[in-house]
Amino acid sequence: MEELSGTVLAGRSFDPIRGRVVVADGRIEAVEETDTTSTDIIVPAFVNAHTHIGDSVAKDAAAGLSLDEAVVPPDSLKHRQLAAADRSELVSAMRRTLRLMRRTGTVSCLDFREQGVEGARALREAATADVADAFILGSGDPAVLDVADGYGASGANDADFADERAACAERGVPFAIHAGEPDATDIHPALDYDPDLLVHMVHAQQAHLDRVAEQSVPIVACPRANAVLDVGTPPIRELVDHTTVALGTDNVMLNPPSMFREMSYTVTRFDVTAREVLRMATTAGAEIAGLDCGVIEPGRRAALVVLDGDSDNLAGSADPVEAVVRRATELDVKRVV
Ligand SMILES: [Zn+2]
Repeated sequence: MEELSGTVLAGRSFDPIRGRVVVADGRIEAVEETDTTSTDIIVPAFVNAHTHIGDSVAKDAAAGLSLDEAVVPPDSLKHRQLAAADRSELVSAMRRTLRLMRRTGTVSCLDFREQGVEGARALREAATADVADAFILGSGDPAVLDVADGYGASGANDADFADERAACAERGVPFAIHAGEPDATDIHPALDYDPDLLVHMVHAQQAHLDRVAEQSVPIVACPRANAVLDVGTPPIRELVDHTTVALGTDNVMLNPPSMFREMSYTVTRFDVTAREVLRMATTAGAEIAGLDCGVIEPGRRAALVVLDGDSDNLAGSADPVEAVVRRATELDVKRVV
């Protein structure tokens, strides 16, 4: 049994309480108000809800390129570099990215893994116990579902995914798909698959939002990646008003998988509160993947980040939620449980 003391951002509303979190056998046993002198801030560990970890073999190779040139299958720079990488190089590069994620407070990522069954196997191998978990959304033949946790489709304009969608339904696993990244043309076709998750929705219009609400489809927004690729600005306020929205850092090729950077960018650029952004970075992604974390409450898996509230960066902040979302960086992470 272990006790973590300080300011705890507890429950689904992240209401700060001064006290402690009691952890036993990897689970949260109690969250209690008590006197404490600790200046630590205890936050749910992050869930990075959209990544392409395979890009770890192509970091920064696409600087200045367009969406098509950089990442669109099958001929983009990314896919050429993935094809050229040997397997051990790929596994090692992915493991290093997962290790960085773990050290910087991310317990799990929802990864769109290219390269079919072999690609999914390589990520399984990379995701060892000491690094962040990968919830693998595989690609290629539906047989990838023997290895992956669900399916990640590139986009409804790229191919017909009816078989893959049906295979997911049969197995009861999520079918996720990119939609509305360069333009709106693939959004209705993506929604026609009745997906379990949409990624991007930069160009979502009211008719799309109405369908999203009606079908209760969660969305992952990746605003920094959208900025790098210059595809537009997602309507995050409107998305949040219509459904569950999570945050993802998208291609490792384009951006480091830093939830601190993604949170501060989102709260700065969009009409959303720090609490909403913290929910997008923790609870929302956990719920989408059915992970038992993302909220500090008794009975949950103890996946927690301990920040140093007395660091040179965070000392003296008037509001711990604002401090975590707007100001904190990887340097403020004291410990990841
Ligand atoms: Zn993506």
